[in-house]
Amino acid sequence: MRPIRARIDSGALRHNLGVAKRRAPRSRSWAVVKANAYGHGLARAAKALAAAEGLALIELEAALELRRSGERRPILLLQGFYAPEELEPIAAQGLAVVVHDAEQLAVLEKAQLPKKLAVYAKLNTGMNRLGFPGKEFRDALERLRACAGSITLMTHFADADGERGVRWQLARFDAAAGGAKLPRSLANSAAILRYPETHADWVRPGIMLYGCSPFPDESAEKLGLKPAMTLSSELIAARSLSAGDSVGYGCTFTADGPVRVGIVACGYADGYPRHAPTGTPILVCGKRTRTLGRVAMDMLFADLTGIPEAAIGSPVTLWGEGLSADEVATSAGTVSYELLCALSPRVPVTETD
Ligand SMILES: *Cc1c(COP(=O)(O)O)cnc(C)c1O
Repeated sequence: MRPIRARIDSGALRHNLGVAKRRAPRSRSWAVVKANAYGHGLARAAKALAAAEGLALIELEAALELRRSGERRPILLLQGFYAPEELEPIAAQGLAVVVHDAEQLAVLEKAQLPKKLAVYAKLNTGMNRLGFPGKEFRDALERLRACAGSITLMTHFADADGERGVRWQLARFDAAAGGAKLPRSLANSAAILRYPETHADWVRPGIMLYGCSPFPDESAEKLGLKPAMTLSSELIAARSLSAGDSVGYGCTFTADGPVRVGIVACGYADGYPRHAPTGTPILVCGKRTRTLGRVAMDMLFADLTGIPEAAIGSPVTLWGEGLSADEVATSAGTVSYELLCALSPRVPVTETD
């Protein structure tokens, strides 16, 4: 069997939720499990995240699957519904929905539901993606009071992990919603970790649960987070290059002297980013080295300089324990979110507690 594996550490998921809860001790948590729990497996993550008061995701099908498997906690659909016929299963399964625009609101008003839904009324405070504009929010809330079972006020931050921070959006939120005495939910991982003033009634941790940092300038380790996914494989070949020899498609790396390279059974069809350039960190035999050349569909190259013990069968860590996905992502010009979500279905998953 091909040696690539993703190991999911349930203990790390539990630990990271504990970090979120200690940072926001007065808030309840929607554990964000969209995109198959950021690639970690929905059912597995829901089980490990038993201490979360609710689960939040995007995909109705996945929410229904959770209910079928006996999940009783509140489940929040972060984009609400896309078509009127989705309201029936949503109501039947008691799912909470985000309502973010006038069209959704009109559909909800017209629907004949056996039980009114818990609604998260989303305000656009600057992300300019989803959410009612500030000047329409009061009116939307009035209408929701008539057709929703409960209302929670919600917004999403555009730069809680960056320079601009959250103050400008908080000010807009207060201006549009200030008077309304309703529960609130604002904070993603970055805001949970950096801006206690955003915690409110419900927080929405995502990436931090999976042990990655939302910040470009602060590591997951420093935040006390543990990687929940370790992607590992083995060397399936090794060879020595002489000066002038190159490796892989496009011959993008050429040796300027003798160098030993290992061929790793992992490629972009496994979810490893093809755009990771020469120099991307990788562990061989637990030692940190670098990738060489272009990532192929099923293989990539590792520099074995300084790792004389490396041979066919030697263990390789692509990311996870010992090498943060954040570092690999940065080298590849992306974020850990994308690496985790992109884990391919062809990679066998194992689980540890
Ligand atoms: C994905 C998502 C989150 C979680 O964000 P992280 O940065 O992963 O913590 C929170 N809220 C909403 C609306 C989201 O879509």
